[in-house]
Amino acid sequence: APATHTKLSVPSLGEVTVPTGLFINNEWVAPAAGETFATVNPATGEHLVNVAHASASEVDTAVRAARSSFRSTWGMNVSGVERAAVISKLADLLERDADLIAALESLNSGKGIRMARTSDVADAVACLRYYAGLADKIHGQTIDSFGGEKLCYTLHQPIGVCGQIIPWNYPLLMWAWKVAPALAAGCTVVMKPSELTPLTALAMSDLAKEAGLPAGVLNTVPGLGATTGEAIARHQDIDKVAFTGSVATGRRISIAAAESNLKKVTLELGGKSPLLVFDSADVEEAADWTAVGIWFNSGQDCCASSRVYVQENVYDAYIAALKKRAEACAIGQPSAEDTSFGPLISAGQRDKVLAYIQSGRDEGASVVTGGRKWPQSNGGFWVEPTILADAHEGMKVVKEEIFGPVVVVSKFTDEAHALALANDTTFGLAAAVFTNDGRQATRVARALDAGTVWINQYNYIHAGVPFGGFKQSGIGRELGTYGLEAYTQVKAVHQNL
Ligand code: NAD
Repeated sequence: APATHTKLSVPSLGEVTVPTGLFINNEWVAPAAGETFATVNPATGEHLVNVAHASASEVDTAVRAARSSFRSTWGMNVSGVERAAVISKLADLLERDADLIAALESLNSGKGIRMARTSDVADAVACLRYYAGLADKIHGQTIDSFGGEKLCYTLHQPIGVCGQIIPWNYPLLMWAWKVAPALAAGCTVVMKPSELTPLTALAMSDLAKEAGLPAGVLNTVPGLGATTGEAIARHQDIDKVAFTGSVATGRRISIAAAESNLKKVTLELGGKSPLLVFDSADVEEAADWTAVGIWFNSGQDCCASSRVYVQENVYDAYIAALKKRAEACAIGQPSAEDTSFGPLISAGQRDKVLAYIQSGRDEGASVVTGGRKWPQSNGGFWVEPTILADAHEGMKVVKEEIFGPVVVVSKFTDEAHALALANDTTFGLAAAVFTNDGRQATRVARALDAGTVWINQYNYIHAGVPFGGFKQSGIGRELGTYGLEAYTQVKAVHQNL
């Protein structure tokens, strides 16, 4: 049988033993059929470890464990105060093991080690703490308007067993966004990390057990989307599936959920987020934030500022300022402390991004900077920070999500023109407006079709602030109290007095 734990050489930590099995009912088990899949280091293209592939029948075993613990402990018989204590302990353990978890995240996803530590791990800790704080504050209402003869009240009860399917761009943080509110609400979980980046979700399983999570509350079933993911989406005894990933997969999961047991679905999907620069804005500041928006995580970000519209009289100054930022990106090896710009996740993703750049050239956009593989890539999957200017509506690079370090820039004349261009998209995840006119900022924020709008900044996300998409960027919200509500259901109780 494949190993449930495997030795792995991790930069700056040396050889460590990492879990590579299935985590079901608080135990590590090997896949019965012996199937595994390989996970790779995107900075070198080298094989890291083989990870267990959960079959449909192992997903079913995990669901049974989750159902049993939902009924016997976590969902029905554990108080909010006790849930809060366990989630809070999990946050402490993640902080304790921050160096290891950050190193695994960096190695498996290619992001710079400093970013993994100060952003991914720190934000995951904050998310766990936020939901630990809410776990004992789940309240309903009393509705007493029946003249003394009736009393009605509501209970906010956990939805039940939740399937959670997450992507590879923020493997740990997406894990925290999913697991923390589910556990806080009293749900139990069957978690499938991305097949490209399973290592931190597996490592977190051990920490969850150590934190005191009862057996069966959190089960981790790594595997491919079309098999393990599909088995979750189609399972008859999963009450809800929560997904982050592409629009195409979100649609498939929605169909599978509807065709099976009509399980509840929340979706966080892609984006093509517009960033508007008005001529009153500080152009240098707008360029700084655009760089954060499009080159953070090498552009593999669902809210990447990938479509920029600039008022025509400041267009040239903005392009010059953004070009300087692109050329100053700290491209390098993920294990180096000063690297901010790592490789893309896979050769396939790199080739897809390069094909988009070529399509932009073919359709008449000009490449201001970048546009190639990073010359020092060796076996890794880097694409240079890239600016495509003089883009226009209708170009493929303006319409479609590239999910890489490529920003398309074009001009607008006035506010109405800017809004028409910004909202001309099937997506609606995020948007930004740069202006020094306060009334204009408020007007434009209100008119943009997006679940998040930033004014004179970009990419700021906080566990207490809801996040999610308009249009085809998703269904439902994560984070904040909305993110907790997504794991509860309301029961109305009518009492005859
Ligand atoms: P993806 O849709 O290919 O995969 C995401 C997850 O879904 C993986 O775990 C995968 O194994 C699983 N999956 C694939 N096919 C499946 C199927 N048929 N049934 C069930 N599960 C299946 O997405 P990706 O390439 O991993 O991630 C990139 C995409 O995710 C981008 O489009 C990006 O915009 C989006 N994204 C969105 C957010 C957000 O919060 N809105 C965050 C991160 C990424």
